[in-house]
Amino acid sequence: MPKSELLSCVGQQVTLSPIRINDDGEGVATLEGVTIFVPHLLPGEVANVRVQSAGRSFLRGEMIERLGTESKDRVHPPCSVFGQCGGCQLQHLSYRGQLLHKQKVVEHHLRRSLRGLPAIENLQVQPTIASPSPYGYRNHVQIPVRYDGQKDKLLFGFYAPSSHELVPTEDCWLISPRLMLLWQAVRKGMETWPRELKAAIHHLHLREAVATGQQMIIWAVQAEYEKVVEHIQKFYQNLESSLRKLLTVGINRTSHETDRPNSRRADILAGSSWIEEELLGVRFRLSAESFFQVNSAQAEQLYRHVIDRLQKHSATRLLDAYSGTGTLSLLLSPYAKTVVGVESVRASVENARQNAEINHIFNVQFIEDTVEHWLPRQISDNDSFDTILVDPPRKGLHSEVISAILKANPQTFLYVSCNPVTLARDLRPFAENGYQITSVQPFDMFPQTSHVECVVTLVRKVVTT
Ligand code: SAH
Repeated sequence: MPKSELLSCVGQQVTLSPIRINDDGEGVATLEGVTIFVPHLLPGEVANVRVQSAGRSFLRGEMIERLGTESKDRVHPPCSVFGQCGGCQLQHLSYRGQLLHKQKVVEHHLRRSLRGLPAIENLQVQPTIASPSPYGYRNHVQIPVRYDGQKDKLLFGFYAPSSHELVPTEDCWLISPRLMLLWQAVRKGMETWPRELKAAIHHLHLREAVATGQQMIIWAVQAEYEKVVEHIQKFYQNLESSLRKLLTVGINRTSHETDRPNSRRADILAGSSWIEEELLGVRFRLSAESFFQVNSAQAEQLYRHVIDRLQKHSATRLLDAYSGTGTLSLLLSPYAKTVVGVESVRASVENARQNAEINHIFNVQFIEDTVEHWLPRQISDNDSFDTILVDPPRKGLHSEVISAILKANPQTFLYVSCNPVTLARDLRPFAENGYQITSVQPFDMFPQTSHVECVVTLVRKVVTT
């Protein structure tokens, strides 16, 4: 159907029933042969839907009223802003249903990308490993803040889907109960601040280490409002000493209200410059800007799985590409002669080096560079790795990184992914060039959201002549 005809559907009311859920957690139905996405409608359910907008080849609808019986997988979403806030997409789906959905998403993308290759024949995607807690799991949150001058009221909340429009709320079901208490304390503490300082804050950045109970608050403030420092210090002094002992407070001076608070270095005003987490017996110091998995208990299960996979193929030289604060490098150090971690964010590399030191681990080296710049040069120097592990951001691997890994020809290749689309794209060249996929294990790192984490193990096929 041409776009003009699709546009003419906008505003119509229709009755629909989706056949599946897409990667974003929306119901997928068809309307006269055209795909239409309807948020919060589950497969098998029937609803009256208003066509809201038209894309190039699809429509988007809004559910007006559900008709008939609800899906056996439907549950009541506990959050009062579910559907308006962009944070969660799946609270209406049972947890069992979410795990099954995520397994299917991984399988769908891998099968599509590996079409026509022998790798597809024995492909088996394991059931998704559940998060130890389906709610209250986040150890880290960035909360946008706005000031309503007319009512002299501070508004906290989260952004609506794909926008910077604030959906005001004073709680979040995903963040840990202790971070919720901290958020309440900050909100109360800020009530007495002068109006211009309330208006200057654009984000609150809260973080905690589950193992030690240490917490961190960073206020992101427009750069010219220096006086906020006094008020943050006063807030800190007024806290009970038991809370203060475990707390770091700081400020991040950024110019735009939509800037992410960790896009620049934070200045620590009181407390230690890091918080310390412990996973699988290894300690990790984290500064305000460093990456760390947001679900500590589930990260532990994922890391244990990676250790189990690599333990089977003890390494001589192991590469941990996209190493963050050194978590996987350090946890895997007992199973390799030497480990090299590569990471582009300076604060994370500094933490990683410190983490090696405090854990007395001496066979690990951390390089500050982008993987796409560093790795191709290493491989051409014949400085190769028999085991390579990658854990890239959502955009996946740069084509030069894929070529370099293929050139390095490691015995074992492990891909930790937070995006099944780029994962599936990146695996194809490996499946075409002598690698066998031996395990695909999805993990639910972000319950209630549509995000899927997955670990894929590949080994070089034995060539028989
Ligand atoms: N494996 C780590 C971190 C994974 S997150 C852990 O489990 O904790 C991905 C990391 O890749 C982040 O730390 C990010 O800063 C880093 N990164 C992003 N792009 C990069 C690039 N092009 N080269 C190197 N590191 C990069």
